Amino acid sequence: MGEIRGHCLCGVVTYVASGPVLWAGHCHCGSCRRATASPMTSFFGVPRDSVTWGGKLANHLSSDGKVRRQYCAACGTQMTYQFDGWPEETHLYASTLEDPAQFQPTAHFHYAEKLPWLHITDELPKYPGSANTSEPL
Ligand SMILES: [Zn+2]
Repeated sequence: MGEIRGHCLCGVVTYVASGPVLWAGHCHCGSCRRATASPMTSFFGVPRDSVTWGGKLANHLSSDGKVRRQYCAACGTQMTYQFDGWPEETHLYASTLEDPAQFQPTAHFHYAEKLPWLHITDELPKYPGSANTSEPL
């Protein structure tokens, strides 16, 4: 994906990730939908220790504390998703990249929760849940 740099809406929070990109795709789950206030979100995983942060992140814990979502304390832009079950990964959002066009999605996740008015026409694999727990639809 090349150099991985991103920032929030107001520019206070910045990141540089040395990678590698572990996976990249679209998520249709209801939690991501609400967290990002969008019908789906597009994100990718990198090693947690490969990301260097600038600015101040705030935290929201969910799923009994097993999930941490981080956002800019100043403007509220969602910046990360971290799950206890994958302690070595951080998930970053394609839309916060300096160049969102560099994002190369390879699948849809939690497709069973896709909203009926969102019409997807790509040929990517569509998993009803997360890719490591389900076969593509
Ligand atoms: Zn901000």
